[in-house]
This record gives sequence, structure tokens and C-alpha cells, in this order.
Amino acid sequence: MKQAKRTKWILDYFHPTPNFPTSGIQFQWYANLLRNPTAFRQAVKELADRYKDMHVDVIAGLDSRGFIFSSALAYEMKLPLILIRKPGKLPGATEKIEYALEYGRNSLEIEKDSLRQGQRVVIVDDIIATGGTAAASCSLVERLDAIVVEVACLAELTELKGRDKIHHPVFSLITIDAK
Ligand code: AMP
Repeated sequence: MKQAKRTKWILDYFHPTPNFPTSGIQFQWYANLLRNPTAFRQAVKELADRYKDMHVDVIAGLDSRGFIFSSALAYEMKLPLILIRKPGKLPGATEKIEYALEYGRNSLEIEKDSLRQGQRVVIVDDIIATGGTAAASCSLVERLDAIVVEVACLAELTELKGRDKIHHPVFSLITIDAK
């Protein structure tokens, strides 16, 4: 997949770590981006730029590293932030979804009163790998009768074809092909 020229610089802040957290996983870590306030701000501004004219009502952040970028984006855009969390973390009445991982299953929850019918939502995570997390999150947002404008991420691992699983537009600042 072609790299967006404008945001290609973000790749320089990635430090892929093989066999972390488990054997066979190439962990894509970007601590250097977070440690550099100019780079972090610029990445968030790129996302804000993307959505400034798309009539977005709400930013939804995915547990847990999606919170880093979703909260910064909501702050920058002066929009409400809602959280989609791993089970048992949200105190209100929740809607829950279970989804398949490469090995095993996972689940996510959203508070039922976090969205109103017809609200336009951008879902934000740090990385899209298999796309399972983002796809499940889209379903949760839709169960609350809200609209998924787009799924946004810092980086998309293209060889895992996560995009194919997400039946909504996907926007990534960079793409990483580990092959
Ligand atoms: P997935 O549901 O497979 O798209 O996985 C997405 C979630 O897992 C994201 O929240 C990522 O933070 C995390 N993740 C998956 N694979 C990686 C990876 N190779 N490096 C870093 N984070 C990952």
C-alpha cells in the first residue's frame, strides 16, 4: 500500500520489536513519538486535519493504547470523548460484544448512554492489526444507533489485511508492511 507522503516521517519514530509480547509477534512500538512533543502533536494535528470538515460529533477511543490518540484528538477538536473498554471496566449499563482473535476470543464494552442516535463517530486506535478490535467496536457503535464515519489509526499493519474485516472506511497515518 502506498504511504501517504505527508505523514511518512512517523515511520521513523517506530521501533519494531520481534517476539514481543509473545513469540512470533513483531511489536510495533512508538515510544519515541510520544517522547517527542513536536512529533506527537503533529501526528494528532494530522488526524484533526483529516476530520475537521467531516461533521464528526464524537471521538471513540479503544482500550488501551487507542486512548492516547483518541483523547488528544478529542481535546484538539474540542469534541466529546467516549471509551470502548475491555470487560468489567465501565461502571454504567453496557452493551457488550465478543469477537474472535487469531487465537481465542476477546470482548469489548461501551456504555449504553455514551452515544445518541445518529451521532457521527470516529473510532481511534493506535494500530490496526487483524482488524478484529476495530470491527467489533464499529458494531458496538452501531448497536447504539450511531454512525461510524471512519476508523482512524496511527499505523496499519497491511499484511494482516485488517481493513477487509472492517466494513467502514479506514484511515491510517502510516502503513507498515512487515514482509
Ligand atoms: P487487531 O484487533 O488485531 O487489529 O489488534 C489491534 C490491537 O492490538 C490494537 O489495539 C493494537 O494496539 C494491538 N496490536 C496488535 N498487533 C500489534 C503489534 N504488532 N504491535 C503493536 N500493537 C499491536
